[in-house]
Amino acid sequence: MRQWQSPIREAGLLPGMIVDVTCQVPVAGLEPFRSMPTDPPPLKPGEPRRLYTCPEHPDLVGTQPGRCTRDGNDLEARPLADAQRIRWWCPMHPAVTADHPGERCQECAG
Ligand SMILES: [Zn+2]
Ligand SMILES: [Zn+2]
Repeated sequence: MRQWQSPIREAGLLPGMIVDVTCQVPVAGLEPFRSMPTDPPPLKPGEPRRLYTCPEHPDLVGTQPGRCTRDGNDLEARPLADAQRIRWWCPMHPAVTADHPGERCQECAG
């Protein structure tokens, strides 16, 4: 799964940090959230319904059980909510998504 290079990450913030935030614009009006569908797409047979994350590194996620590549911790299963789906997207073109890994972005061939 690709990691998304968000403006938050570029500002030096990491998952798990405690910060005070004042939203001047509704987050739903910003990309990539603005382009996300409000209704989840129908579930496909066999579509993953849980993620696996490291308790110390929640930014590392996988779709299979295993170990964290940073510290070797066992990854913990995290069930998805009914409306949540797992998608992969191009870090340069957040509107380009796929419902499985390995797809090539038509915009940048990445
Ligand atoms: Zn870890
Ligand atoms: Zn792209």
